[in-house]
Parts: sequence; structure tokens; C-alpha cells
Amino acid sequence: MLSEENAVLYCKICKSPTTLLYNEMHDDRYGYPEQYSVNKCSSCNFAEINPIPSSEVLESIYTDYYPRKAMTADDVKATADNFSRKPNSDKNNLQGEKNKCHSYITAGSKVLDIGCGNGVSLLEITKLGGDAYGTELDKNIKPIADELNLEIHFGDIDTMPYPDDFFDFITMSQLIEHIPDPKDFLIKISKKLKVGGKIILSTPNIESANAKRTEKKWINWHIPYHVNFFSQKSINVLAKETGFKVLKSETTTPMGWVALQYLTNKKERVSLGNKETIWQPRPKNMNTLEYIKYLSFKEFSLRVLALLNSYFTIPAWRIRDKAGKGESFIVFLEKA
Ligand SMILES: [Zn+2]
Repeated sequence: MLSEENAVLYCKICKSPTTLLYNEMHDDRYGYPEQYSVNKCSSCNFAEINPIPSSEVLESIYTDYYPRKAMTADDVKATADNFSRKPNSDKNNLQGEKNKCHSYITAGSKVLDIGCGNGVSLLEITKLGGDAYGTELDKNIKPIADELNLEIHFGDIDTMPYPDDFFDFITMSQLIEHIPDPKDFLIKISKKLKVGGKIILSTPNIESANAKRTEKKWINWHIPYHVNFFSQKSINVLAKETGFKVLKSETTTPMGWVALQYLTNKKERVSLGNKETIWQPRPKNMNTLEYIKYLSFKEFSLRVLALLNSYFTIPAWRIRDKAGKGESFIVFLEKA
């Protein structure tokens, strides 16, 4: 009998055998103290972590390790008030920030944003003329949702109260990489879409320039919160098998991601069970000068360099984006 370690694992998307890409991977942001390996499909390049965390582990890492921004209803409103940019504005094209899925919806449509967090996206959908609905697992958001009168279902998609064939758009920004069974997930949410309705999703690109050259330091491994990593081919197979047509799929690289990757490259990889300062939120009520002191001058200088680097490399990233080597996919699927 094969031991579990030596057993061949098969790709969740196309069923081909996978091979080990990296072992000894761990949470290099928030310090969850377990190790995982990454296995990659030899045919479609989809990758997943091994083992896939159980639902108990997933619940615990999001509750006990993942930092939540403490936002008030006023903060949420203020953020949404500043939202006026169109996804294809010059500024977004320049900065590579085209992966905010709900910004592509059309006025007069019914829109479900899965994993809507504090509800900023729902206010922005309303601003774009859409009828906004959301789902979110984190019940801490409920008081904000009540205060802002947002239509949010707290719970998983199996218990959503929305009728079948109801939505024109389902959006999910940087979500599918967190879902242990993406195929089952798409089949389930597809029922809630009208025929001809669209899914707009964004997710990291495992074939991006940085995924290749930064190896274990790639910021989008984000293990074990991310369990799946997609290539263009795996997206195509997944869409086909779940009854969707790929209308458009392109890559885009947000400048913020470039800066975070630069910072990560310049620092030692944190060891198992430790937190990386890059990912810790700025303590509340700390002014900039106090924050520089808190970070150390060296760390602050690195952040300035990272920001400059992200500006200088804009032209190179826009070329990579066009070649499909950008850091994030933005994918438009249509229910057949
Ligand atoms: Zn595969």
C-alpha cells in the first residue's frame, strides 16, 4: 500500500496526475504553525495545497490568525463615497487595478457579490445602478450591514435564500482560490444565475512572472488561506465542466501587489509560526511619525523603495499583463 505521502494526487480540475512543486510551505503572513506542500498538475498547471485544511482548520485560521480591519459603518460609507473610477479608466489601466470584479456590472442588473466583506462593494454596486446582494461568512459585519441597510446573507452558499435564475451578475474578487472545491462551488452558484448571466471573477495567476521568479516567496501563495492556484488552461477546463463559456480572460497586475512582492523579496522569509510585519495592519490612532518609529527606519525606507519600484516598473508590468503573465486574472464567464 502506498503511504499517504507517496500516493499520486490527481488534479481536481482535469484529473491528470500532479507532481510536487514545493514542500515545507507555511503561513508567511500571520503565523499559522502548520506546513503544507504545493502540488501542480502536469497537464493544466492548476496547483493546490496538500493537505487541504479541514473546515474546522479553515474556520480557526480566519478567526484566530487573519487580521480583520475594524471598520465602522461610517468608514464603509466613506470608502464607497470615494468610488467613482471605472474599471477601464486611464488611472486603473496605468496602475493595473482592474481586478475589482463588481466595477464591471451594468446598471439595472441584479448582482450578487460573494465574500462581500464589510459591504463596501455592495454600496459601490448600488452607486453603479445595480441591485446589490451579498454573502459573507464573518458575522462580525452584521451590525454594519444593519446600519447601512445592506442585503447580506451571513452563511455559506448552500443556505442562500435567493431564488434560482435570479441574478444577472455574480462577482467574486480574489475568492475562488480560497474555496476547497471550486467545481462544486461554481455548479451551485450557477443555479442562481439567469441563463446568459455572467460570473466575473479575479484570482492570482500561477503562470505570472513573479510566481515563477520569486518561487517560495511569491506573495500569492498565501498558504493555507489560498488552497487553489489557477492557470489560464485550468480556468478554461473549469468553465467548460461547469457549464460556462469564457467570454474574456486577461491578466492585470495591481501596483500594490508589486510593492508588496518587492518588500517580501528584500526580507528573509519568516519561519514557521511567526508573523511578517509587512502584513500587520497599522495600529489604530498612530500618526505617521509614530508609525515610522514603530516600524523602524529601515523597514520604513524599504516601504518607500517598494513604492518607487512599483512606479518604475509600470511599463514592464503592462507588457507582461498583455502577454498573460500578469499577477491576477480577471475572467468573464457566461452561463450557457
Ligand atoms: Zn489539471
